[in-house]
Amino acid sequence: MSLTEIDLHQQLKKYFGFSQFKGLQEQVITSIVKGKDTFVVMPTGGGKSLCYQLPALIADGTAIVVSPLIALMKNQVDAIRGISSQHGVAHVLNSSLNKTEVRQVKEDISNGITKLLYVAPESLTKEDYVEFLRGQTISFLAIDEAHCISEWGHDFRPEYRNLRHIIKRIGDNIPIIALTATATPKVQEDILKNLGITDAKTFKASFNRPNLYYEVRPKTKNVDADIIRFVKQNEGKSGIIYCLSRKKVEELAQTLQVNGISAVPYHAGLEAKTRSRHQDMFLMEDIDVVVATIAFGMGIDKPDVRFVIHHDIPKSIESYYQETGRAGRDGGEGHCLAFYSYKDIEKLEKFMSGKPVAEQEIGHALLQEIVAYAETSISRRKFILHYFGEEFDQETGEGAAMDDNMRYPKSHVEAKDEVALLLKTVKETKELYKSKDLVKTLQGKSNAMISSHRTDEHPLFGKGSYKDSKFWMALIRQVLVQGYLKKDIETYGVIKITPAGEEYLQQPTSFMMTEDHIFDSTTEAVPSASKKAGGAIDQQLVKMLKDLRKKIAKKMELPPFVI
Ligand code: ADP
Ligand code: MG
Repeated sequence: MSLTEIDLHQQLKKYFGFSQFKGLQEQVITSIVKGKDTFVVMPTGGGKSLCYQLPALIADGTAIVVSPLIALMKNQVDAIRGISSQHGVAHVLNSSLNKTEVRQVKEDISNGITKLLYVAPESLTKEDYVEFLRGQTISFLAIDEAHCISEWGHDFRPEYRNLRHIIKRIGDNIPIIALTATATPKVQEDILKNLGITDAKTFKASFNRPNLYYEVRPKTKNVDADIIRFVKQNEGKSGIIYCLSRKKVEELAQTLQVNGISAVPYHAGLEAKTRSRHQDMFLMEDIDVVVATIAFGMGIDKPDVRFVIHHDIPKSIESYYQETGRAGRDGGEGHCLAFYSYKDIEKLEKFMSGKPVAEQEIGHALLQEIVAYAETSISRRKFILHYFGEEFDQETGEGAAMDDNMRYPKSHVEAKDEVALLLKTVKETKELYKSKDLVKTLQGKSNAMISSHRTDEHPLFGKGSYKDSKFWMALIRQVLVQGYLKKDIETYGVIKITPAGEEYLQQPTSFMMTEDHIFDSTTEAVPSASKKAGGAIDQQLVKMLKDLRKKIAKKMELPPFVI
């Protein structure tokens, strides 16, 4: 196939009905058509699928597309069949097919009808399939969601590790296209190395999503009511609400239902049938909201998700970016709202405490970044893009005003003396204390730990009593983020001074502290409007309804009620 013979624009129009390529699509497709190994890094919604679908449709032979999820493959196969009169133009090859179906797929491939063959990585390990594919004309091999190769990614799949080996067996010179929305350099490096395509032509799009609005709100006891209020203000719009635990997913979905919001739960603990039914209900707009764990998401191609709420802060900025990335894929409005309390970070830290030290270190570093994101007072967009190694001008960049910090700037106070006092206190108390004991020491309040070390007799004891405990807690978090202090991993949570902290003590400079203490774990619930107005949610009522459902189900011998 020579490039001069093909008018890509014409093909785009013919197959997809689009008159323009999106972003780097045309360059990517040109590279693939030339038979080059190609690496595509584009954010979610960037239009990666078309990058391999179009060349597959115009090339000789069959393109193999490796994709991690059956649902994802099915969506794409249906879409491709929709644009071609040939039913066999796209197939999925997986373990759910019976013998007749497998025979049909093979026949269509041999006859040159099938342009796209979707396979899960584990199917590719089947000897029978590999043998068969080895004898066929394969145009190229595309690996979608290629970050699954890397343990550093947010969705590691061990089966992805063997792909290189299998590809070799299918054919020697098959061009490889890897595609991912993962922006971290470490994962990108892993992908290229693992697939053995370090010379691949790389196309990297900006990760800026100018239509997304980023917001962080303090998480209080009223978080459920806050979420209900938000959803009601956005009535009729599609949204995803992420929670950390399955239990919370179930609870919140019920609470929303009781409050007249059409919502369903989604998590890996539900039966596969229920999961796919709930997913379909969301895609078909039978319901507005999915309350989900991270099990929901990869490859969900609903273009008009208008909000993504995080009931719990995720474990890294990368995860947060991916999860919020599901909003506004059509370029329209997308509100990304995270509820954050430092208490949740401590919970995540506890989860990690049993793991190997090296893993914990990575985990803590990632958490520190998300704390910094949540508590930052700079442009959130700038913060995220900086994390991915991209420059962003917070005054003039695209989407510059689209976050809470830029719209409602936070105030700052000079905390140079307080930082110095804090660092000194850490040193004088021999780096033995966790943040709570440090705050007590600064405030001149003793406890068993403090008196056992006779810290309460030290001249520094109580030197910071002119500020309240919330101030000191907030300052410790901000100084941790700055890197003057760090939490020791072996002795969970004990605060130590870093070389940068020592340097600061030698020569303290200005330290502008964000004057927002609301993320403190000790913060009392802020009375919410809904509570004042008589209470939007009545937990007792939820419980009553649940019990009632159970009783009815038992009496009528119905299966347990699933919303
Ligand atoms: P990704 O895999 O990068 O997350 P998709 O391939 O799912 O993104 O595409 C996202 C959306 O963009 C889809 O709805 C798709 O139809 C649309 N799209 C892709 N290419 C174009 C184009 N050239 N013009 C208009 N819309 C496009
Ligand atoms: Mg995709």
